[in-house]
Amino acid sequence: MLKLAVIGKDVSKSDSPKMHTFIANSTGREISYDAISIPEDKFDEWIDGVISRYDGFNVTIPYKLAVMPKLKTICDDAVLFGAVNTVKSADLVGYNTDGEGFMLMLKTNGIQVDGRRVLLLGAGGAGRAVAQKLVHGGAYVSVFDRNAEAAASLKQDCPAITVLSEVLPADYDMAINATGVGMHKTEGMSPVGEDVLSRVGVAVDLIYVPSKSAFLSIAESLGKPVVNGRAMLFYQAYYAQCIFFGVQPDEEEAQKLFSAYLNTLYS
Ligand code: NAP
Repeated sequence: MLKLAVIGKDVSKSDSPKMHTFIANSTGREISYDAISIPEDKFDEWIDGVISRYDGFNVTIPYKLAVMPKLKTICDDAVLFGAVNTVKSADLVGYNTDGEGFMLMLKTNGIQVDGRRVLLLGAGGAGRAVAQKLVHGGAYVSVFDRNAEAAASLKQDCPAITVLSEVLPADYDMAINATGVGMHKTEGMSPVGEDVLSRVGVAVDLIYVPSKSAFLSIAESLGKPVVNGRAMLFYQAYYAQCIFFGVQPDEEEAQKLFSAYLNTLYS
């Protein structure tokens, strides 16, 4: 049995225990999975205990960077993004599965990337991962962030993007909301309106609660296909669990597990 966990500042409402337990039960693996909320002033004190007590753990806000100095090796996308969301304790290796989760979400929704024009709103942690995977996949990515420094820093790491100083209506194959606007205190708000969304092919929001953000509702009212971020969240967990168990991920298995998981949520 593997002893697993998610760490973050407040993971009391995290979906990770539920998703990981579902994936493990469905694939015949044995795990325990804890949610460990760590106050920011306790991170340095507690992190070594987490590493020694757990076989592996997921990392969420705000510790995706803070955990890196504790690790011996940073792998694959974690190097590209400069952030870790999955740690295998035995070898002290850090990975990042957010980008793979995002790309599999697009693929399973039949959304093409290569050669497509993408409007990306938000260049924070998630926006950075998404931008770099899209560029790697051959997309032309235009990024707007109200925080000009965030967009400039992404441009430095990913020179192929175009940084926008404002969002004007233009033809895009896909618009992605990675700003967080539309959840919690901003529920009901959208970072862009009808003028922009009427010119996009498909609208993707990384938000999954609410399942239909204002950004997606506006796009849907204009007849656009819409995708929320729940599949991305599930697939990043799927890829993380494959890392914990040292097994090869299988896209078909991931997709079947996600459909079955959705049934448990809505039954
Ligand atoms: P973050 O680091 O706070 O980044 C958000 C960025 O968007 C910030 O730079 C922010 O600027 C900017 N922004 C805020 N409002 C904006 C607006 N109206 N127009 C343009 N830019 C704006 O957050 P994050 O961790 O990247 O997360 C972003 C979203 O992705 C959240 O909704 C999160 O829940 C979601 N997410 C989903 C998944 C998934 O698996 N589905 C995974 C990761 C994240 P300021 O600094 O000025 O606020």
